[in-house]
Amino acid sequence: MGALWLVQTFNERSIFDVEALLKEYLLEEDAEKNVKHPRRIGVYWPSQVWDCLRKVYYEYTLKEPATEETIRFGALGNVLHEYVARILKSVSEKYGGYTVQNEVEVKIEHPNLDGVTISGRVDDLILIEWSKEKDAPKHSKILIEVKTLAKLSSKENHNLPRFEHICQLNTYLSLYPDAQGILLYISRSNLDTRVFTLEFDKQLYEKTLKRVEEVHRYLSSGVLPPAEAKISKNERWRCMHCQYAEVCKSS
Ligand code: SF4
Repeated sequence: MGALWLVQTFNERSIFDVEALLKEYLLEEDAEKNVKHPRRIGVYWPSQVWDCLRKVYYEYTLKEPATEETIRFGALGNVLHEYVARILKSVSEKYGGYTVQNEVEVKIEHPNLDGVTISGRVDDLILIEWSKEKDAPKHSKILIEVKTLAKLSSKENHNLPRFEHICQLNTYLSLYPDAQGILLYISRSNLDTRVFTLEFDKQLYEKTLKRVEEVHRYLSSGVLPPAEAKISKNERWRCMHCQYAEVCKSS
């Protein structure tokens, strides 16, 4: 780190600027992640496939760095994901019965498109595997996807579980078709939780593969997709948080 957080004062003594330290750390951590998992046309993250088509296009072509707000939200999401994994691990250490894996790698080769994969960093997935056959529940594997939201009760979140989250977890479940999927929503304001369970849905997975084809078609041909979120009344809220809103407006 560049130690910007040690500020020289007029009397030559340094002060410890914890705010600058946190900011510098988060920005560097995000930059490292981007180096490790650069955006490349043909490699798509499960979390972005069902986002606004035009926004995904901008993310790959304009490659603007994430805003500080997005980086902070991401960091908060990671903190809560680790918190859930830690609780699950601590119960498992105390009572046994299952193992917990919280760094699950995902790489799916697209069956119809050569060289196209659905992969990338998976920061919000936890895999539970029952080690004792006799105590195992109906599913011996459970995939938990942790999603954080500002408030579970806010207007934006009246329609949980969100379609794109179901599709994302369903994509992971394609690698573990016998596992149970759990979507765990956690409120960033008071740790309120809501849980939804799902099973692998082959038809939905095929729909997601088609969507990847659509994303890839726009990106590989260099054609700007329609402003998908803007033209759908139910999706317009996305534009409020979109860092490409200005460029989208002028396109
Ligand atoms: S402003 Fe809205 S329509 Fe335009 S790219 Fe962003 S989310 Fe999509």
